[in-house]
Amino acid sequence: MNEPFTHAIPILHTLHEHGYQAYFVGGAVRDVLLGREIGDIDIATDATPDVVESLFDKTVDVGKEHGTVIVLLDGVSYEVTTFRTESEYEDFRRPKEVAFISSLKEDLLRRDLTINAVAMDIHGDIIDHVGGKRDIKRRRIQTVGDPACRFQEDSLRMMRAVRFLSQLGFELSKETEEAMKKDKHLLANISVERKKIEMEKLLKGRYCEQAIKVLISTKLYEELPGLKDQLNETFQAFPYYLLDGLDEVWGAFIHLLGLDEAEAVSFLKEWKLSTKLLKEAVAISKYVDCDWDAEKMFEAGEHVLLSSMKITQLKHERRIFFDELEAAKRSYDALPIKQLQDLAVSGKDLMAFRQKPAGKWIAEELASVKKAVLQNQLENRKEAIEEWLIACDQRLEND
Ligand code: ATP
Ligand code: MG
Repeated sequence: MNEPFTHAIPILHTLHEHGYQAYFVGGAVRDVLLGREIGDIDIATDATPDVVESLFDKTVDVGKEHGTVIVLLDGVSYEVTTFRTESEYEDFRRPKEVAFISSLKEDLLRRDLTINAVAMDIHGDIIDHVGGKRDIKRRRIQTVGDPACRFQEDSLRMMRAVRFLSQLGFELSKETEEAMKKDKHLLANISVERKKIEMEKLLKGRYCEQAIKVLISTKLYEELPGLKDQLNETFQAFPYYLLDGLDEVWGAFIHLLGLDEAEAVSFLKEWKLSTKLLKEAVAISKYVDCDWDAEKMFEAGEHVLLSSMKITQLKHERRIFFDELEAAKRSYDALPIKQLQDLAVSGKDLMAFRQKPAGKWIAEELASVKKAVLQNQLENRKEAIEEWLIACDQRLEND
């Protein structure tokens, strides 16, 4: 058995010792069968959340009413979830009530996709009631059971299917794809927050371009915030997965959609991005295709400079040129000032020097000093700046 699983075996042992069933389930089992790197390990058991809490020293309640308790072992957290069914669904959203059950099989049958519904026991043996292993082998994404029913219950599963397609490079089964086309409007019932989580994972997937094609061919995109009338080809053919942070991903997204600043802000607000992420994405997008000089580098700041440069490279060449990024970083490091406060004179200094009360002139004068310093026409030293200001005054008088 693989390393991350062997670490979690004591949890299964403890549950077994107390007479409970316990299995590895979900993404980690899928990924081990695929030979992919394993993410978080999820464990399913027939012990109730209260029992799980009582059996382990360190636990965190992250949704006991839905059956989930986090168990911490040697600093690693494991989600331990009680077998459950999700009988009643409220407005196509989350299950209204979950019923805890004692059958692993029933628990696997409530899961979204066959590839996500395979369990593994403590010996590494696979339990598969839904053909998940076969679908992993033939790289097929399909729902557990009838897709139309499963999408009726929770239509976010449509987005999840395309998100896994993006991460794994699999294909949708015909039935699943047809049901999506037919029922795509159900996605309108899902909260933006839930859609955003899947969209961000989708864009960061290695096969994001195929996934975007599927969003378009199934018309799912029409149910996503702000996308109904926005699609264009540049936006589709972009390797978002080569970017790093979500600010870069959203920055590239709004740039390639061709949105201006105001449109980008309202688009990202529709997606309910945090203010910080929104601002960063908009700033990054603004500098894509920029002709850089010292002043623009100063304005943008290092992070925005490097992020927007990366997007520009990917847009035109589909690859990142690390040597160019290194060179840009060196140019940035060499700037004589990185922020206005780094200037050797402040607004107060200027007021004292000019013997003038505060006013709009301060910002204007600081801006021209900043410009001259950034262009290396002026040394960033108080006396040098004062001499330069006097020389400017004299030039103005002579003109
Ligand atoms: P990741 O590597 O992104 O964490 P994952 O497969 O673990 O992938 P999660 O979103 O963490 O995905 O969900 C854990 C498991 O819970 C899934 O593998 C699936 O079995 C089940 N699951 C998650 N969301 C749903 C849903 N909306 N409907 C049914 N089952 C779901
Ligand atoms: Mg997971």
